[in-house]
Amino acid sequence: MGKRPAAGRAVFYTRDSLGKHETTPGEYVLWAGRAAAQHGITFDGTPERIEAMIRSGRSQDGDLFLDYGVTGNQLSRAGLDALMKTALTDAGVSHVLIPRRDRFARPDDPIDGMKLENLLREGGLTLVFMDRVVPPLERGRRRDVGELIVAMLDYNHAGEFRRELAQKMIYAQTALAKAGFSVGGRPPFGFRRWLAREDGNPVRQLIDGEYVKMAGHHVVWLPGPEEELAVIRRILEMLETMPASRVAARLTTEGVPTPDAGRTRVDGGVRHATSGVWNQPTITNVARNPLLKAVMAYGRRSMGDQLRYSADGPRTLGDGDLRADGKPRVVTNPDSARLVAPARFEPLVDRDGHERLLRTLDERAGTQRGKPRSRDPERNPLGGRVFDMACGWPLYRQPYNVSFRYLCGLYQQSHGAECKHNLVGGPVATQFVLGCVRQKVLAPAFRSKLEAKIREIAERELGGPRPDQGLASKRAALAEVCRRRERAARNMAMAEDQTQYHAIAAVFDQLKREEQALEADLRKLEQEVAPAFDIEAEVGAALAALDEMADLATDPSNLGAIGELFRRLNVRLFLSFREERPKKRVVNRVTGGVVTFGATAPPVALYEGPTGRRALKGRLAAETGQGLAASLDLPALSEEQDDSSLGTVSRGERI
Ligand SMILES: [Zn+2]
Repeated sequence: MGKRPAAGRAVFYTRDSLGKHETTPGEYVLWAGRAAAQHGITFDGTPERIEAMIRSGRSQDGDLFLDYGVTGNQLSRAGLDALMKTALTDAGVSHVLIPRRDRFARPDDPIDGMKLENLLREGGLTLVFMDRVVPPLERGRRRDVGELIVAMLDYNHAGEFRRELAQKMIYAQTALAKAGFSVGGRPPFGFRRWLAREDGNPVRQLIDGEYVKMAGHHVVWLPGPEEELAVIRRILEMLETMPASRVAARLTTEGVPTPDAGRTRVDGGVRHATSGVWNQPTITNVARNPLLKAVMAYGRRSMGDQLRYSADGPRTLGDGDLRADGKPRVVTNPDSARLVAPARFEPLVDRDGHERLLRTLDERAGTQRGKPRSRDPERNPLGGRVFDMACGWPLYRQPYNVSFRYLCGLYQQSHGAECKHNLVGGPVATQFVLGCVRQKVLAPAFRSKLEAKIREIAERELGGPRPDQGLASKRAALAEVCRRRERAARNMAMAEDQTQYHAIAAVFDQLKREEQALEADLRKLEQEVAPAFDIEAEVGAALAALDEMADLATDPSNLGAIGELFRRLNVRLFLSFREERPKKRVVNRVTGGVVTFGATAPPVALYEGPTGRRALKGRLAAETGQGLAASLDLPALSEEQDDSSLGTVSRGERI
């Protein structure tokens, strides 16, 4: 790092998670101005500028950096990333102004917060917080242990705050839900948010997104406006005799505004108006809304990365709450785990009649209701792995004759209003992808390449500096905490009265807890460091995984095994189609495509909205970290497969 001026320019960073912070980003900028003056450094930020950033959604304006509406355990954020880049590369910057450590990061692991600080300090920067100034780190100079511990405790506390907050939120929400009040979020179609007194008496309607905090008042969902209620009554009436998909098609044709009419949504970074198309799930959700029976339901889904709702109170996350890549996922709770309470208004429907209608809907939906589309790999080996390059949607499995096929999901969901009748035969596509896997992954040449790659990665890790410093600093921190706890124990024995004793005992308990946490961290770190060096074991495990995959591929009729193979490799098939009219009927032929493996980016932007299923991250790719992703261009899929078998003929339906 080049030389920096002792008193150059200051950059400012803060984060606001849209929680109810007492201090606004603007007020923090005022503090930053005063701090800069004290240190004799240049800083040109103003509250007006940061407020303009909030309004326009920008994360950087000159030397101001901001993450707005981002939680603190996300350590990669637009504003923070930009701050790190500017601070580390602009030699005119000498100071970084951050109001508080918890505005910088609320890491799940305090070490992560300290690492971020170290990056800046090793770059020669001084960090100025409201309560302390942290100087640059000089290379080769031992760090002050006391300072390390304070930083560790600050970030540990900042992280714990999120868990406590999650717990408080769940208890508060459960209490509100039991009393029939809203726990937040947008009300369903046909309902609006009202401010209401504790006794349930409405005060006034709230506008979209309006947040009111008033003692003795809560938010309640009440029916209205009349136009939406009329649409709901019509939907219920039509559902008596018509399937939901036809109700949806009729409302779309008539131009009835959809529940999200007038809203915009962001797809692939582009903001656009919502489609105005009613679809089947929207219709059934309107009909199944328990609020029609004046019943508030809570706990339908559990989400969050700290603690989650359960019928017995907040619970910690289990394996079922995490995706294959370790990120938290939203889970749907069974009916029995949900909380129901009477709402604060009279039912809108006749209960018996409505129950009958719901039973009819259940029967029409068969056993499929609430279940994801066929995930069973035996029936659906390419489930969620075939995509239409025209619209970016997955093709959904459909039973067809005695077999199955994959048809564009957007075409199905929009009832033909959007996209085309793009489809491919299920068995043909499966055997084709299997052929690609055999050729690319199960070939002997790949095996030796994989082995070389893993050795290369392992040797690079060996050669580079190991995170042993993390271990050393943890050990030092542990020794310090241990020393302070012993001192506290001695002081307890010498306490002169009850009050003094309790005060010291509280300190002792706190230090004891810190010591235990540090010990646990240390054990984990020690375990993590050791096995990373065993190259032979790594290579052996990877090759064994490959052999297992070869076994899965042996029987081309075992679709279950093949589906599992596809899942492990995260194979995806992207197809493009062309409309042709050889005779009378329109034929949507496959004209080409791309097969990808592992973490390879898709060749087109994929639809990631509510009905699109995100393909799972390849387990193998995750295990080796990199190196397995390979993309295979297939300019003419039909060259490898008989043209007539792949280009499936449409039924000449409305396209
Ligand atoms: Zn499509």
